[in-house]
Amino acid sequence: MSAYLDPQLRRALADRVRYYNDLGIYDFYRRTADSGNVKQQVVLETSGGASPLLVQASRGEDLSQEELSVDMRSERNSDPVSALRLIREDIGDCTRCRLHKQGRKQIVFGVGNPDADLMFIGEAPGADEDQQGEPFVGRAGQLLNNMIKAMGLRREDVYIANIIKCRPPGNRTPERDECETCSPFLMRQIKVIGPKAIVALGAVAAKTLLAINAPMSELRGRWYDFRGTKLAVTYHPAFLLRDPRQKKETWKDLQMVMKELGMKAPAPGAE
Ligand code: URA
Repeated sequence: MSAYLDPQLRRALADRVRYYNDLGIYDFYRRTADSGNVKQQVVLETSGGASPLLVQASRGEDLSQEELSVDMRSERNSDPVSALRLIREDIGDCTRCRLHKQGRKQIVFGVGNPDADLMFIGEAPGADEDQQGEPFVGRAGQLLNNMIKAMGLRREDVYIANIIKCRPPGNRTPERDECETCSPFLMRQIKVIGPKAIVALGAVAAKTLLAINAPMSELRGRWYDFRGTKLAVTYHPAFLLRDPRQKKETWKDLQMVMKELGMKAPAPGAE
């Protein structure tokens, strides 16, 4: 984008373009108009019929179509490590939802292989994750590590993230608006990593990603298409700690994932 563009405006513009991309809208048309007290307005209209974005460029410089799309292109085409770094930078010291003033220590971005074939998506950081800045490092994380190991993988082979990146107070369930505000960053992470399969851990992850309101017993055990990527739902490890009898069902879900990825379970006792 233009070097002259106010950074706040540039970020707002890039965020909005990405938001439209997440909705599957990629074509934008530009129209400029003069206005009394602003030197120039740029109106972005989308081919998808979404409401136009009006940007007031106070320095009066023009934005070319190319400039508007350059950020998106660079994210899609750059190496995943740089692209993920860019997403992390865009999040910044986030104040987009109420969680930033409700005791979160830090943003928990995601961890693992930026080229992973398999991505696990949980709900929200808990106390340990908030402390360490990494998802799934507490007791539920230990169980997730065991699940990953049982599949014949290492934690560093997969990518792990959450629907929201800040710890809700008292580990309460994230509110819908918190998920909606935060999840576009997760969508960008998914797009950059390009996993072959996603495992949604628990109801919050499943319902947010799939926009389906159904009990876990109905959601799990089958494949979904998530924007062109296979997605399976299984029980959240924290739930399994409370009800270990469901581990058997979880293992069935993970075996379905392994089959899809052409993986064989390691022989018992193998490291
Ligand atoms: N539960 C989650 O959903 N995510 C974490 O990172 C930890 C616990």
